[in-house]
Amino acid sequence: MGSRSRCAEGAVKAGRGYPTQPAPAGGYSSWVRDTSVGVYVHVPFCERVCPYCDFPVVAARRLEPEREEQYVDALLSELERRRADFGGLHLESVYLGGGTPALLQVESVSKLVAAVRAAFTGRPAEVTLEVNPSTVERERLPGFRAAGVDRLSIGIQSFDDAVLKRLGRAHRADAGRATLAAARGAGFDNVSLDLIVAVPDQSQAQVEADLAETLRFGPEHVSAYALTVEPGTPYARGVEHGVLRLPSEEVGVRMLETLPRRLAGAGLEPYEISSYARPGFESQHNRRYWERTPVLGLGMGAWSIEPRSPGAPHGARRRNLRSLAAYLERAAAGGEAREGETEILEPATARGEAAFLALRTRRGLDAARFAEEFGAPPRRFFAAAIARAAGAGLLEEGPGGDLRLTARGRLVSDSVFEAFVEASGRPSD
Ligand code: SF4
Repeated sequence: MGSRSRCAEGAVKAGRGYPTQPAPAGGYSSWVRDTSVGVYVHVPFCERVCPYCDFPVVAARRLEPEREEQYVDALLSELERRRADFGGLHLESVYLGGGTPALLQVESVSKLVAAVRAAFTGRPAEVTLEVNPSTVERERLPGFRAAGVDRLSIGIQSFDDAVLKRLGRAHRADAGRATLAAARGAGFDNVSLDLIVAVPDQSQAQVEADLAETLRFGPEHVSAYALTVEPGTPYARGVEHGVLRLPSEEVGVRMLETLPRRLAGAGLEPYEISSYARPGFESQHNRRYWERTPVLGLGMGAWSIEPRSPGAPHGARRRNLRSLAAYLERAAAGGEAREGETEILEPATARGEAAFLALRTRRGLDAARFAEEFGAPPRRFFAAAIARAAGAGLLEEGPGGDLRLTARGRLVSDSVFEAFVEASGRPSD
């Protein structure tokens, strides 16, 4: 099935592989010349660790003030060290993800948002905060709004207690409803809600009920994923030992098919495989990953997409240390939080990524723009993958070589993407 399940919407937040994903109004050339930056701030603490989660997270039933202060100080010093690497770029988006960043006190969030804004020129188009449905976070929503947060991404996942329990989530459906009401009460008019489908024992009727309640609330944005079992998680062990039974591929696909039908029918347009928005409410921050434009990732395990340069014409990326202790230690010593070396993208890697990231979006892969960056249109590099996917009814090729997934292709997108990545280095003739 198509997408990966996540805690909340942040495209590629930290730790789990690099952004895997399309095209700005200005096209590929504007990717190369992009003069803006998005800042992602990773806050790893969670009330408890969900059994399917493989993000870099740390269980913290209570986040002690000293621990919070130490982490926020580390983030601020990292920002100070790294801002020059993104010098001259104007700030387009700020995203506080995790983990559960809304476990931070309002003062900490306020300090972080103010510091990021002061570090760059420009006024961000959106400042998003991920929130889980807990009482403590709910009570802080008015404070977060006053601190400059203007968009919430709420980890609802389901409105069904049995599904939430099966997911091992800390919250129950009523807490989700209370958080949504509190978000509107606090003045948030840009709310994204996360849903997970294809959960063990979940029925089609439960998915329909979750969608109906989602639409009654009327969010501006929805991120909806099929549950993915990541190796090494308690969920993976449960499946291995037969304790958890995932829905069959057929049932999972049927659930995924329901999403665009119900959401688009209510005005939430699918603009990316897992993302639905009312016009004008598409996530600006996630768009950056799909477009391969600069992102400064701060915090334990966070990824950065470095600005392009003559030495890295197709971009470069780096990831921070994934151990909290190591990250804090490095920050205290005033050192680099990077884990390993910065990876400069080879043309072949960049081609594969550009292709499949673009294919994630409704707009698809624009052949002329691809050629502008890579010297030849997609067919030059991906002829076999295109033929196979088109032959299977998963991909459409326009007269000018533009490529888009079909409705069926969107449901089994991973198989198409794999073929593109495998073929990325080899010209077809
Ligand atoms: S709340 Fe989200 S980030 Fe935290 S453990 Fe659960 S899935 Fe992972």
